[in-house]
This record gives sequence, structure tokens and C-alpha cells, in this order.
Amino acid sequence: MTYQSAWMSPELSAFRDQFRRFLKADLAPQAEGWRRAKMVDRDAWRALGGMGALLPSVPETYGGGDGTFAFEAAVIEDIATIVPEMATGVSVHSAIVAHYILNYGSHEQKLRWLPKMASGEFVGAVAMTEPGAGSDLQAVRTSAKKVGNSYVLNGQKTFITNGIAADLVIVVARTGEPGAKGLSLLVVETEECEGFRRGRSLDKIGLHASDTAELFFEDAIVPPENLLGGEEGQGFVQLMQQLPQERLALALASVAAMESAIAVTVDYAKQRKAFGKPIIEFQNSAFKLAERKTEATIARVFVDHCVMQLIAGELDTVTASMAKYWCSDKQAETADECLQLHGGYGYMEEYPIARMFVDARIQKIYGGANEIMKVIIARSL
Ligand SMILES: Cc1cc2nc3c(=O)[nH]c(=O)nc-3n(C[C@H](O)[C@H](O)[C@H](O)COP(=O)(O)OP(=O)(O)OC[C@H]3O[C@@H](n4cnc5c(N)ncnc54)[C@H](O)[C@@H]3O)c2cc1C
Repeated sequence: MTYQSAWMSPELSAFRDQFRRFLKADLAPQAEGWRRAKMVDRDAWRALGGMGALLPSVPETYGGGDGTFAFEAAVIEDIATIVPEMATGVSVHSAIVAHYILNYGSHEQKLRWLPKMASGEFVGAVAMTEPGAGSDLQAVRTSAKKVGNSYVLNGQKTFITNGIAADLVIVVARTGEPGAKGLSLLVVETEECEGFRRGRSLDKIGLHASDTAELFFEDAIVPPENLLGGEEGQGFVQLMQQLPQERLALALASVAAMESAIAVTVDYAKQRKAFGKPIIEFQNSAFKLAERKTEATIARVFVDHCVMQLIAGELDTVTASMAKYWCSDKQAETADECLQLHGGYGYMEEYPIARMFVDARIQKIYGGANEIMKVIIARSL
């Protein structure tokens, strides 16, 4: 079956040929080292920046690739397929953090931060989650109090992607009353911020090359010009407005991961023999793969529809939540079934399916747990 995403174009296709070659030759061979170091090397960020693959849908004025979300989608898919070790970190950096600054920052703030993020000189992170506030963001306790001409931040964040590498962190902090209306987004430049401290790089069961950290703010001083959106109390609304794009980015990575899991398993099942024949010739194996290929295709078509809607400015939170929930559930199921078809070899780390299986698991939790996605969808019924 030949299927082409409606958002693809000849220019994007030419970029992708070159980009995929670069990912395979220059970055993929380094992934094992990143897994051991528990983080991606800064040179790899700079190399991505050099390729024009960071901030692809940010205007050129701010150092970006000047594309639509189609450019972003192509980069996410290719990284998730060829160097999945970078997928979460780059998605947070380009598809999430940069867009908070682009959408809510002043011209001066955009000029200050976006070109550095586009070149890979700065790595971005977003810090919402706290030990006592994950799904329930309104419970955020990290406070930002105006003292003289500064904000003074106190609190703790956890599970922050790029937390160890980050030069710039968008912090969700309480500047006012309890609940949603008291939240604001403050940009912390980690190098310059007195009272900011990183905790250890957390030990995870998967995503070993993606650094995930606790962050501490102890009377941390942040200049008032680092508030996003010009006035306090806009944080929750800003977070909600960005959700469709964030969730779509996750769904895109899920589809790419599903397709990769099926591809490696088809190859394996064609060459592994049992009872004198390749295991793909057992009807169960072939049917499982046929079912998964069908689901991956349905997922791709739906996600492509969402990409087109986002480009048209029409993607709503409910539809994006459907994409995030369904695609990540299917990714995890696919990885599990594909591992099964590898037999004992699937449980060995040297087989890519083993990593795909473990890495798939988090997709159902972060970016809003899938139960929260269903709460949002259910509310719209
Ligand atoms: C590897 C990794 C990277 C991450 N990166 C980031 C990051 O960059 N920035 C950031 O801010 N956060 C990040 N997170 C945090 C992530 O977004 C949260 O873990 C997630 O939102 C869930 O919050 P929680 O862990 O506090 O779980 P809880 O909120 O404690 O929820 C636990 C479970 O309870 C259930 N549940 C909760 N509320 C409801 C409800 N209303 N209805 C039904 N069921 C419910 C769900 O099953 C849920 O999974 C990351 C987490 C991980 C593990």
C-alpha cells in the first residue's frame, strides 16, 4: 500500500531524505553512549540545530525553520524512527517549550531565547509536575512572590525532561490565589539563576538516554521580564491552549514507534525458524502482524488528519486527546505483541524490540495520563 500523508510536500520530502541520512550516519551510532551517560550529548543538539531541525515551525526572524507544523511533524517522526533516544527531549524543546515562548513571549523575549534554542546552544525544559501535583496541575505549590523588582521562587519540580541539560526552564509557578487563576509561567535561565539547583538524574526503567530530573528553587531570583504573557495569572490558560499541539506531538511519535516495532518484527519473523519454517508462516504470527499493521495505518491516517487540522488552526483539545490516548495505547500493545513474536530474544537488551517495549510504557503516562485524556473526551460527549 502506498500512502502519503496529506501534509507532505516535495520540499519536505527533499529535506527528509537528507535529514534521515544525517540521523542514521551521524546520530544513531552515538545512542548507546548516550544511554550509558543517561543524557544526550550537547554536540548532538548543536548538530540538529545545524541541520535546521530544531524549532522547525518557528519563524525565521527568531532563528527557526519558518515551516508549518508539517515540518515539526516530519522531524518528530524521523527522530522517533531513527534516533528514538532523542524523541522525547527534542519534542519538549521544539514542539512545546519554543511554542510557549513564541505564542506568549514579547518580541524581545523571543529574540533573546528562540535563536539560541534553534541552534542548540540552549536546551529547553518545561517544569509543571511536582511531587504533589501531576495530573492535577491546579495543585501546583511552587510559588513566585514579587519582592522588590524580582520574583522569588520557592518549590520543587520532579520528572522534568531535559532537566539536567536545560539552560532554560519554563516553570509553572503560583503568583496568586489557589487554583487555576493563580498560576503563571516564568522562564528561568539556569546559568544565571541564584537559588536554582538540579537534583540527580532520575533512574528510569526506560528512555535511558533522556535525562529526567528533579529541580529545586530555594529563594531563586527571577527578573520580572521573564514572565510569559505580560501579566500574572495567565499560566493555566496558556498551558491549556498549547495542549493540542503537545498531545499531537506525542501521538506522532507513537505512530512512528508502532511502525518501527512492526518493521523489525516482520524482518525477525521472516528469518527466525521454528518447527522447520519461518515463524511468520504460523498463522497466529502473520495475523498478529496483520492486525497491528492495520491499527498502525488507522493511527497514521487519524494523526495525519489531526496534523492538517492543527495547521488550519482547528485542532481542538478533545480530538488531540483522542490521538494521544489511542495512539499511545496502541503503541504499548504493539510493542508487547511484537516482543512476544521475538520469543526469548525479545527480552534481551541487544534486540531493539526490548527497548521499544519499555520505552513505549511512559507514552501512556506523560503529557497527561491516558485516564485524563478520557476524562476530557468524556466531558465532551
Ligand atoms: C519520563 C518522564 C518524563 C516526564 N517529563 C515531564 C516534563 O518534562 N515536564 C513535566 O512537567 N512533567 C513531566 N513528567 C511528569 C508527567 O507528566 C506526570 O507523571 C503525569 O502527568 C502524571 O502525573 P503523576 O505522575 O503525578 O500521577 P498522578 O497525578 O498521581 O496520577 C496517577 C494515576 O492516577 C490516575 N488518575 C489521576 N487523576 C485521575 C483522574 N482525574 N481520573 C482518572 N484517573 C486519574 C491515572 O491512572 C494516573 O496515571 C514526566 C514523567 C516521566 C515519567
